[in-house]
Amino acid sequence: MIDLQNLIDGRRCMALSGSTFEKHAPATGTLLAHVPASNARDVDLAVKSAHAALRHGPWASAGAAARARWLHRLADLVERETDALTALLADEQGRPQVEMRMMDVPMSVDTLRYFAGWADKLEGRVIPTDGFMGRPTLNYTQRVPVGVAAQIIPWNAPLMIAVWKLAPALAAGCTVVIKPSEDAPLAVARLGELISEAGIPDGVVNIVHGLGAEVGPALVAHPLVNKISFTGSTEVGRTIACEAARTFKRVTLELGGKAAQIVFADADLEQVVPALAMGMFVNQGQTCAAGSRVLVHRSIAQAVEARLVDAARAIRVGPPSDTTSRMGALINQRHLARVRAHIDVALAEGAIRLAGDEAVPDSGWFMRPTILGGVQPGMRIAREEVFGPVGMVIPFDTEDEAVDMANDTLFGLSASLWTRDIAIAHRVAQRLDVGAVAINCWSPLDARLPWGGTKHSGIGRDLSRAALDSYLEEKVVTAAL
Ligand code: NAD
Repeated sequence: MIDLQNLIDGRRCMALSGSTFEKHAPATGTLLAHVPASNARDVDLAVKSAHAALRHGPWASAGAAARARWLHRLADLVERETDALTALLADEQGRPQVEMRMMDVPMSVDTLRYFAGWADKLEGRVIPTDGFMGRPTLNYTQRVPVGVAAQIIPWNAPLMIAVWKLAPALAAGCTVVIKPSEDAPLAVARLGELISEAGIPDGVVNIVHGLGAEVGPALVAHPLVNKISFTGSTEVGRTIACEAARTFKRVTLELGGKAAQIVFADADLEQVVPALAMGMFVNQGQTCAAGSRVLVHRSIAQAVEARLVDAARAIRVGPPSDTTSRMGALINQRHLARVRAHIDVALAEGAIRLAGDEAVPDSGWFMRPTILGGVQPGMRIAREEVFGPVGMVIPFDTEDEAVDMANDTLFGLSASLWTRDIAIAHRVAQRLDVGAVAINCWSPLDARLPWGGTKHSGIGRDLSRAALDSYLEEKVVTAAL
């Protein structure tokens, strides 16, 4: 059991109120940590520390190359701690270690190195004009940090998403206040210790733990916060967008999804079905890009559904401590109940459970990977984000119908499509109203590729040059000569 602490101005501290809450392991119910239950007073201290570090001291006076060195040092430390971070993530998320070892930790390291590379390449422009009031001018721009960034993190990939936000902000020269999810605070707290070990100056990165409804709004409303980067539910994203507008804060919102995986008649099922199952079930289906809606050409729909049912039944569900587990527990009891309620609504609307009612481990918040048959495009299960291990196959007859069905959702984060026909692949990719399309693969995340959605999936992009730009303002300087 760990007593977590906030990181404010380089010091580890309890919430000023002394209050804590408990974090339990999803797979076993064991108490993992007491977590500071911070409030607006803790947020105020953290934001003022970030604001001071932006204006004065070693970070403010450091050169761009120094910021790159700090980021590289942090990347080395995260890489060194691969085993420990993997174990923390597995405990707090209830998720098989193999996923974090393959994805979350290496991608965190790569993302830090990618943005370290950008830190000393933030060049401005020299812009010729006709001059001003008869005098020639020299006009140039500078890329300057947007200021203090508040970064609000979800529980489904806590380390990786914290790094997605932290790395471009630090490369740009911003200072930050991170609010980890109350459901997954451990790995981000360890990241805070590594930030101190990397020598990143005090106050540049602050971490304030607490409940979303307490810490989140205090951060969003704080007058010294210039930018908010949020990943989480569309509901909370909407409240943040409204509140941020009052003080004209810049916002990046990475919200929910309802990804389609479109399978055309010529697809190679040997290759496709395992990838479809991965897109549905990785991280217990608790990913924003979860490909829960499999749209299949009618000629092969039954074959795909039967193979997906077999694939779902073959997945070994168990705790992260069992290295043969390929699916873990859901994050908490409330979320498990919510996912089950989605299934109940689908069954009441006429769906049939084809896989998913087999036994699960006695303790912990487990459920079996579930495939529903007989789902119609208008049913709630086909339209709302479930964020759990639940998938469905819906047949289509024509390319137009597939595209219309894929786009017929409020969300627009990502989609994948499967075909050997290069013309169909690129034609359909262009018609899908989403931020990311994967052809013959599922959701290939990379630090160099922009990640974010259209419609109710959010505003702006994480990762890539686009994320860096979102932490910079372009300032113009005009000198009359
Ligand atoms: P959530 O919205 O419940 O919480 C996200 C974070 O916001 C947490 O840190 C929480 O404490 C905080 N929060 C809660 N209420 C707040 C408020 N009123 N003001 C400010 N902050 C508040 O989401 P979650 O359950 O942690 O994550 C699941 C959701 O995240 C899903 O909808 C999923 O699709 C989405 N997600 C999106 C992406 C993406 O890149 N688009 C990636 C991962 C997850």
